[in-house]
Amino acid sequence: MMLENKTALITGASRGIGKAIALKLASQGASIAFTYLKSEDAAMETKREIEAYGVQALAIASDASDFESSGKVVEQVLAQFSRIDILVNNAGITRDGLLMRMGEEQWDAVLSANLKSAFNYIHAVIPAMLKNRSGSIINISSVVGIHGNAGQCNYSASKAGLIGLAKSVAQEVGSRGIRVNVVAPGFIKTDMTANMPPEMIKAWENSIPLRRGGFPEDVANVCLFLASDLSSYVSGQVIAVDGGMAM
Ligand code: NAP
Repeated sequence: MMLENKTALITGASRGIGKAIALKLASQGASIAFTYLKSEDAAMETKREIEAYGVQALAIASDASDFESSGKVVEQVLAQFSRIDILVNNAGITRDGLLMRMGEEQWDAVLSANLKSAFNYIHAVIPAMLKNRSGSIINISSVVGIHGNAGQCNYSASKAGLIGLAKSVAQEVGSRGIRVNVVAPGFIKTDMTANMPPEMIKAWENSIPLRRGGFPEDVANVCLFLASDLSSYVSGQVIAVDGGMAM
């Protein structure tokens, strides 16, 4: 059990990658608090699956892009579990389109859900981590945050921002035992990628050295590494989980 007596807070864990991270950390003994936006039934199912590992679970419906609500979530988690050792900023959305046709709402929605959300949670969680003089923060970015992607300037900008945010905070709080890292997934099979045309999926898979799309658990395994003491001397890093797609 790598995470016994630890508490993890994960944003957006009712489905997909966030859910896989929640289950992976629970399987190693961590108590899990997680948020979601609107998928109540899926969130309750995630909660049940976490509890099946014999750890505590707390599911909270809260919009991660809202500064005040995010602070309240952290207060609630601290009231129930007394500590937060691991924060995973996973909540994210896409609203794709070419820059020329992109509206302000499309830009703001993605930047708020993907980037401001991470600021909200890091800002709220840091005082408790500073008090404990330890903590692991993981931002879920994307390979397009490193390389860009036509039709995703809002999403790519938000994901690049998560890298700058992590590296800056890593420098600010490293001396207090807090590590901040980034995971950059490639093409992972979740609801987010489910609507892609099959021929596009095939083309992507053929361009990946490992010749397959990733599974949420592939990302969760790297998050376990970054959340645990196995990565005790790793901070400010970006780890791509993409089958070698973006070297
Ligand atoms: P997903 O299947 O669409 O799940 C998104 C999760 O985020 C859901 O639990 C959703 O809650 C939650 N969420 C969305 N907006 C939120 C908000 N404002 N506040 C709180 N929760 C919110 O997505 P995914 O594929 O698992 O992606 C997870 C993360 O990995 C995202 O940051 C995404 O950008 C990143 N990523 C994914 C891929 C990929 O190929 N799938 C690649 C690179 C990076 P509800 O269920 O309530 O809507």
